[in-house]
Amino acid sequence: MEFSLIDRIRDLTAQHRDDVRLGIGDDAALLTVPPGQELAVAIDTMVEGVHFPVGTPAADIGWKALAVNLSDLAAMGATPAWALLALTLPNADEAFVDGFAKGFAQLAQTYRLALIGGDTTRGTLTISVAVHGFVPPGKALTRAGAQVGDAVLVTGALGDAAGGLQCVQQKNHRDDTQTHHLIERLNRPTPRVAAGLALRGRASACIDVSDGLLADLGHICTASHVGAEIDAALLPRSSALLDLFDEATSRDFALSGGDDYELCFTVPVQQVAVVQADLAKLGCGATRIGCIVEGEGVTVRDCEGHRLSGRQGWDHFSA
Ligand code: ADP
Ligand code: MG
Repeated sequence: MEFSLIDRIRDLTAQHRDDVRLGIGDDAALLTVPPGQELAVAIDTMVEGVHFPVGTPAADIGWKALAVNLSDLAAMGATPAWALLALTLPNADEAFVDGFAKGFAQLAQTYRLALIGGDTTRGTLTISVAVHGFVPPGKALTRAGAQVGDAVLVTGALGDAAGGLQCVQQKNHRDDTQTHHLIERLNRPTPRVAAGLALRGRASACIDVSDGLLADLGHICTASHVGAEIDAALLPRSSALLDLFDEATSRDFALSGGDDYELCFTVPVQQVAVVQADLAKLGCGATRIGCIVEGEGVTVRDCEGHRLSGRQGWDHFSA
């Protein structure tokens, strides 16, 4: 439809790549996958009011729509290359599209990612982004492969996005640096792409934390046919989260809050130190939070070793 909107998106996100033979403007893009590489492909949709709060700045929506997809490529250990964008807009709002495209482009530039096409339609504000990346054959990280005895680690800090959402939902939320940090983590998550690449050939399983640690580590357990034990006292939490929320709330956010886009992965114990050193150099770091055990599901223990949840599933707790 609206060619001027598509032109704006194309101009604001312009990125030359030799592997794009034909980008935005024709009926389909023409692309060259580098010889000897596998193509990793993912798509995620965000609906206003469901995946981001009404009132989120346009540039933040553009950033996040791409970030959540890059996070999927990161979890596979893939190098990002291209993206498709399907935009559904309530009206042809140029200011929104400009802001959106700028936020999207800001993150895309970091990875020299090219927007190669998409679709534009009218309706409830909904954004679908599909990303494509490259990975050497057989080297992709998957959810299967965690072995009994492996250590469980997570990059960065958990629970910030859930804390940020709580702040945004309070109409008169505080206007301090901690609150800003949490809202920034909600609206502009950092996909752990470099960490995913560093984990290739080392992590036995990997997933990005989009639905909350317990749910996502649970997916590793299911795919790997193992169980996991987590020590709640080891959960990495930011000082901003700990300043603004009490211990039980911040722990709950770290265990079951979504939208953090950190990587949760498993490695043989002999590899923990070297992996932690490498991820520290990359800036995000990685914290050991537990281990892989026989059985199924995720068990959480407090510092005295008491079980906070059963293996059959997560009981929302508040102690
Ligand atoms: P068609 O009817 O052939 O699908 P469109 O008018 O939908 O044509 O799109 C024209 C060109 O613009 C195509 O190359 C398409 O990939 C691209 N395009 C449309 N919408 C977007 C968008 N939101 N972001 C990026 N490219 C887009
Ligand atoms: Mg179309």
